[in-house]
Amino acid sequence: MSKVFFSSWNGQIVDEREKALDERIELRDLDIPEHFDRKELKAMIGWAGLIIADPEINVVEALKEYFKNVQDKSCGRCIPCRAGSKVIADRLETISTGEGSEGDLLFLKEMATLIKNGSLCELGISSPVPLLHALEYFEEDFLALINGTKTAGDNSYEYHPILTAPCQNGCPAHINIPRYITCIKEGNYEEALAVNREKTPLVGTLGRVCIHPCESNCNRQPYDQSLSIRLLKRFAADFGAKNNYDRERSYPLPAPDADRVAIVGAGPAGLNAAYKLAQKGYAVTIYEALPVAGGMLAVGIPSYRLPRDILNAEIGLVESLGVKIIYNTKVGVDITLDQIWAEGYKAIFIASGLHDSATMGCEGEDACYYGYMPGVEFLRKINLGETVDLGESVAVIGGGNVAMDCARSAVRLGVKEVHLIYRRSRTEMPANKAEIDAAEEEGIKFHLLANPTCILEEKGAVSGMECVKMELGEPDSSGRRRPIPVDGSEFILSSDTVIPAIGQVADFCFLNEDCGMEVTRWGTLKVDEETMAASTPGIFAGGDAVLGARTVIEAIATANRAAEAIDSYIREGKSTVGNNYKLEKHIEDLGVYREENVPAIVGGRKRLEEEVMPVAERMQGFAEAELGFKCPSVSIAEAERCVSCLRLGLAVVSPGRKNDD
Ligand SMILES: Cc1cc2nc3c(=O)[nH]c(=O)nc-3n(C[C@H](O)[C@H](O)[C@H](O)COP(=O)(O)OP(=O)(O)OC[C@H]3O[C@@H](n4cnc5c(N)ncnc54)[C@H](O)[C@@H]3O)c2cc1C
Ligand code: SF4
Ligand code: SF4
Repeated sequence: MSKVFFSSWNGQIVDEREKALDERIELRDLDIPEHFDRKELKAMIGWAGLIIADPEINVVEALKEYFKNVQDKSCGRCIPCRAGSKVIADRLETISTGEGSEGDLLFLKEMATLIKNGSLCELGISSPVPLLHALEYFEEDFLALINGTKTAGDNSYEYHPILTAPCQNGCPAHINIPRYITCIKEGNYEEALAVNREKTPLVGTLGRVCIHPCESNCNRQPYDQSLSIRLLKRFAADFGAKNNYDRERSYPLPAPDADRVAIVGAGPAGLNAAYKLAQKGYAVTIYEALPVAGGMLAVGIPSYRLPRDILNAEIGLVESLGVKIIYNTKVGVDITLDQIWAEGYKAIFIASGLHDSATMGCEGEDACYYGYMPGVEFLRKINLGETVDLGESVAVIGGGNVAMDCARSAVRLGVKEVHLIYRRSRTEMPANKAEIDAAEEEGIKFHLLANPTCILEEKGAVSGMECVKMELGEPDSSGRRRPIPVDGSEFILSSDTVIPAIGQVADFCFLNEDCGMEVTRWGTLKVDEETMAASTPGIFAGGDAVLGARTVIEAIATANRAAEAIDSYIREGKSTVGNNYKLEKHIEDLGVYREENVPAIVGGRKRLEEEVMPVAERMQGFAEAELGFKCPSVSIAEAERCVSCLRLGLAVVSPGRKNDD
């Protein structure tokens, strides 16, 4: 257990230097992660101050490393940050080598203050903070080096830098948001698109359907409103599509003798892993059960939210790297995992998602009545162009995004009456607020605090449901208040079709007892959460099959880690992921976004909104309803609201050293 020697993180001074080791508090008492990359954290130097766990750390040396990194990461646009960081690193070097003078301390303080007050972005504004703290609390360490009573000593620590931002840390794939927004400010849309494509080919897709957790981490939020990060991404993608920006297509095709990787499922996880592996030179084959690629992007999310030409162009980008997709081939039915291995693949990535429906535990749901159709089956059918007979009224059960997609699709298919039944209140609905609002605008009738108890039928066809009213009790394990049936409150809701959309489960038909893969009690595949390696050597898994029903960007994030781990597994026989991912995770635990830590912003500039098709018009069919930012001037104006909240952190670890006096 690592103890705190000194911490000034977030301005909270915890000074344990005068205490004996066993009296010091632990890092975990301050919610500071104790390890980086499974090694003990000795110090963290960053935008919010200093954390020192190892008393032997040479603070001056560590700060010198920090400022070398500031210099390296500085965009160079403003002189205080660009030149000042070099001057500070040089002066710290002078002190560290015993050639400094006491006057250097005043010089460093003045220079740090100058950079802090004179820089244009948060890298310059925040990076002097740890130096100013060190000059205040560790002056004797500087003086000891200057006076020669101490030498720099053995500096065998490892230094791991990371440059991020609160928004970037909030994006599961850690897309470099400040960089692409800066590119948009400068009108360089090609570069903005390329920055996104460093992580994913599905930029136009995410620009439409991502649930944008990054925006909840935006520093503008407490002042006025968060940046429209998702819409700026969409703008870069759409502009790129119109102008044929296709730098990624210039990757060479895999060599004829390239190592081969097989992927199960062509959803976002499978496609993203294929994209990253093909860029690394692997020959990738995806086995896909359906006649189309895209997974839930193609057969779940309706086309009024994600036009298929956008999705298909992005799938085309993956294929242009030499990725082969074998359609209509269900692994476990048409080909086994053993047969795939026998074809000479070096690794397999499983990204089969969740394509079966969860059951409601309601009488009649397994009676196969005509007109009873689980949500994912309904969406799959309409997306594959099959005709579905819904009758005049439809009842959709559930309060999530899948339920909203089913109900809103039913409206577009001309159903006169669409009901939505949800067992909790509107506040607890898991669907995005925008989706809930849009569903209401489109005339869908909400029956909140109600739950079906029995599917009713006439001559083998659905005629409606018996439902019961619910009330909310104490919060359950999900933190939401538990719905409890109200005795005697049963009522009948007539409908021609019933569509339950309360969750999805996996079909792991490709697993057998000998394959060695483990399934969790939640019905997902068990993997190492960092490398996505399964218990069977050479098999990796990601996306919904591992996470449960989640989101596109989370599926992509798992695929990117898996691609890195597969590469290291094939090249070195050991699955690992790069430090950047680990550091993003590490500092996420430290808390990159904190309301009290936000930069000085002059508020009052509301975010710009996209154009939306009028309700009556959008209900007529499946044309795209949300239209994004149409012209560059709007996207530039929105991008200009970004204040580039860059954060540099430096984790100091030393595998060989113990944390003691
Ligand atoms: C209706 C709906 C709406 C959604 N809306 C959003 C949204 O707006 N935003 C968001 O972020 N997320 C949304 N999601 C969630 C998101 O779509 C998923 O989290 C994401 O698609 C998971 O990606 P995946 O690659 O893991 O799996 P999937 O997208 O499910 O892809 C898995 C693929 O594997 C194939 N497959 C399965 N088994 C086999 C097999 N044995 N052999 C070969 N192929 C196989 C499937 O056919 C499929 O193509 C939505 C989901 C649904 C159902
Ligand atoms: S203002 Fe810009 S850099 Fe800062 S958190 Fe928001 S999007 Fe990110
Ligand atoms: S992918 Fe989603 S979470 Fe990541 S930056 Fe884009 S909108 Fe934000």
